[in-house]
Amino acid sequence: MKENAPKLVDQYGRHVNYVRISVTDRCDFRCIYCMAEDMTFVPRAQVLSLEEIYRLASTFTQLGVRKIRLTGGEPLVRNNVMSLIERLGQLPGLDELTLTTNGSQLTRLAQPLQNAGVRRINVSLDSLDPDKFRRITRTGKLAQVLAGLDAAVAAGFERIKLNAVILKGRNQDEILNLTHYAQNHGFDISFIEEMPLGLIDDHDRALCFCSSDEVREIIEQHYQLAAIDETTGGPSRYFAVAGNSARIGFISPHSHNFCHLCNRVRVTVEGRLLLCLGNEHSLDLRAVLRKPGSSQDDLQQAIIQSMDLKPEKHHFDLDAAPEILRFMNMTGG
Ligand code: SAM
Ligand code: SF4
Repeated sequence: MKENAPKLVDQYGRHVNYVRISVTDRCDFRCIYCMAEDMTFVPRAQVLSLEEIYRLASTFTQLGVRKIRLTGGEPLVRNNVMSLIERLGQLPGLDELTLTTNGSQLTRLAQPLQNAGVRRINVSLDSLDPDKFRRITRTGKLAQVLAGLDAAVAAGFERIKLNAVILKGRNQDEILNLTHYAQNHGFDISFIEEMPLGLIDDHDRALCFCSSDEVREIIEQHYQLAAIDETTGGPSRYFAVAGNSARIGFISPHSHNFCHLCNRVRVTVEGRLLLCLGNEHSLDLRAVLRKPGSSQDDLQQAIIQSMDLKPEKHHFDLDAAPEILRFMNMTGG
C-alpha cells in the first residue's frame, strides 16, 4: 500500500476520515425523541475510560481520520472531559476536533473548549419558548442554553451550528422563530428528521414525523433559499439566504438518502465501532483494547478489517417496529 493511500476504505469505495465518539450515555436532559423518561444507563465498568477513548482517537488519526466529533449523551457532563479534549486538541494529523452539545454547560466550558482547539460546535435547540423547551427536553432550562450560546459567541468559535429536531404537534410552530434566531446571530442551523432509534413511549414517531420538505416550505414562506453547491461529506444539504453568511441545512435520513456520501463511523460509549447509524454492523473495540497483550498493531488491523462490515445504506422505517433498539444517547448523534 502506498504511504499516503487511504487506509480506511470500505467495499463500496467510501473513504472513512471522520469518527464520532460518544463519551458518555448520561445526560442532564431527557429529550423525548432521544431517551425514555426513566433511563437505565450503562454500568461504569462497561464505559470506555478517558484513556481508552484517547487511545482509540489517536489510532484513528494514525489511520487517516482527520475529523473527530465528541458526542453522547451530553459530552460535557462527563467527569474530567476537558482533560481528554485538551489532549485530543494536540493530536498530530487531526484537522478538526468538534462536539455536539445540548449547551447546558457552555457558560462554564465554552472558553476552555476554545482554548483546547475546538473551533466549531453544534448546539441542539428545538424551541425558543421556555415551556415548550421544557416539555421537549423534560428537564432542560432554555435560559441556561441561551446563556451558553452567548458564552460560545464571546469565546469566539469560528462557527456555531444549531440542531433542531422538528416534531409535528411539538415544535413545528417554532421553525420560523428558530430560523430568525439563527440568522440574526450568524448561526448555521440544521433541521433534522426524527430517526427511529430506541423504543420511546412519548409519541408516535410516524404521526409526529415532519419531513425536511415540509420544514423547508415553512421557511420559504419568509426566506428565499438558494442551494449551496458544496459537499460537506455529510448528510446536511445547505441553503443560503441572500446577504447572510449563516446557512440553513436539512438532515433528511428518511426523505433524502445520503448514504453514498458517508465518510464516517461511530464509537459507542461502550466502545462498539458502529459502521452505520441505521444498522447494527459493528466491531467490539473495547474487547480489543482490553485484551491482555493486545498491541497497537492489533487495534489498527481490527479497525482496518471492520471496514468490510460497513453496509451500503440504512433502512429506516417509522411504521415498522424499531429495528434499532439502542437509543441515540448510546450511539452519539
Ligand atoms: N447531548 C448532545 C445534544 O443534544 O446535542 C449530543 C448528543 S445528541 C444524541 C446529538 C443529536 O442527536 C442532537 O442534535 C439531537 O437532537 C439528535 N437526536 C437525538 N435523538 C434523535 C432522534 N431519535 N432522531 C434524530 N435526531 C436525534
Ligand atoms: Fe441528552 Fe442530547 Fe439526547 Fe437530549 S438529545 S437527551 S440533550 S443526549
